[in-house]
Amino acid sequence: MAFHPTTLLEPHTPPALTTEPHVIVRGERLTVWDREGRSYLDATSGMLCTNLGYSQPRLVRAAERQMARLPFFASFAHRTADVALALADDLARLAPLPMGRTFFANSGAEANDSAFKLAWYYHRCLGRYGRSTVISQERGYHGTTVAAGSATGLDFVHRGFGLPLPSFVTVACPDPHGPLREGLSEDRFVDRLVGRLERLIEHEGPDTVAAFIAEPILGAGGLIIPPPGYYPRVQEVLARHDILFVVDEVVTGFGRTGSMFATTEFGLAPDLITLAKGLSSAYAPISAVMVGQRVMDTIADRSPDVGAFGHGFTYSGHPVAAAVAREALAIVVEEDVPGHVRETAPTLMTALADAFGGEACVRDVRGYGFLAAVTFVTGAGGLPEGEWGARVMSEAVEHGLLVRAVGDTVIVAPPLVSTGEEIRTMVGLLEKAYRAALAGIRPAW
Ligand code: PMP
Repeated sequence: MAFHPTTLLEPHTPPALTTEPHVIVRGERLTVWDREGRSYLDATSGMLCTNLGYSQPRLVRAAERQMARLPFFASFAHRTADVALALADDLARLAPLPMGRTFFANSGAEANDSAFKLAWYYHRCLGRYGRSTVISQERGYHGTTVAAGSATGLDFVHRGFGLPLPSFVTVACPDPHGPLREGLSEDRFVDRLVGRLERLIEHEGPDTVAAFIAEPILGAGGLIIPPPGYYPRVQEVLARHDILFVVDEVVTGFGRTGSMFATTEFGLAPDLITLAKGLSSAYAPISAVMVGQRVMDTIADRSPDVGAFGHGFTYSGHPVAAAVAREALAIVVEEDVPGHVRETAPTLMTALADAFGGEACVRDVRGYGFLAAVTFVTGAGGLPEGEWGARVMSEAVEHGLLVRAVGDTVIVAPPLVSTGEEIRTMVGLLEKAYRAALAGIRPAW
């Protein structure tokens, strides 16, 4: 099949590029094949989403069955498809928070936009019309729609669009690396972060702040694992001001940390949880907002004062996506995927530490569950800042491995069904890629 290289406007790609992209045509379990027939082990799970691997036959059959039975029916004005209700029931049984109801959307960004609107709606139901500000973290990633993109604390999502919108503000990133290396204790670091959050809320005016959104582990910002004491302290501050806590579990949901939800793993108490990716193992676009009981009770009791909940999408609770998600959840539960991650995660960390631990070019190796990263020393080998990730990633492609690069960091996030042996193979290929990158820059070094 021949393609014209300039018909597709590719996401997250410079529009000036007219070369042909790398084209993937087929996938099976952990492997994808390109048009030239070369195979790649996918150590990024698509985009941290194909948690059950490619070509899972149960997911394919679930989609086929639903396509044949009822391919579409809109959830609108109190009429919906049975399978959307059934998926909401499934999620209610698994929910890691005192549950109200679940709202369905199609992407992580839409789920986060929906969570912000739910927060605005909640405060309006309580007569607090001035509560519009959303606080997020520098380097947090929540999507690229106008609102979720505003909450995303990464410049490349804002630049070019005049974002963020005025009611979105950020607080310091809870990255422990620099401060702890400078000798700050974890407690003092958390004190500093919480102090900044409190000052920001005071500065904005507590009765103007609607919600705080955060990822339990920051993924696209470069795999940042906040200190364990951080979120409990943040929650105290939010509760004091009745600011809703939105936990973005788009990446961490459905097993990636070794628990079904990071909310449970880290003992969080969110008001709203956003989910996507692993919900259908990426086989169909579907996302969700779990609305906690407190928010749900308030909006159910008071909503007549502000009118109907004027929010929703043609494809909210799409039957085929919902059927696939139900099957994906069934597999995650039946096969105890979170348990497998918990048991196998030490293999990933040990393999990475063995391969990269003592290297002069390596700043650190870190991870949690099936989310791991190697960060290279900025400028090592004379490479420009932020170049290490891209170098190692492109060498990895040559070695038949897909990883993700964020600046000087390489992220390894294998599908959750990967065995210990498969993970060792992935890390072995990554080490070879690193050695090749090193050999490539040595002459100049
Ligand atoms: N939240 C997080 C934590 C994410 O990592 C992402 C996507 N990488 C999103 C939200 C946005 O999801 P989507 O691309 O489906 O809009």
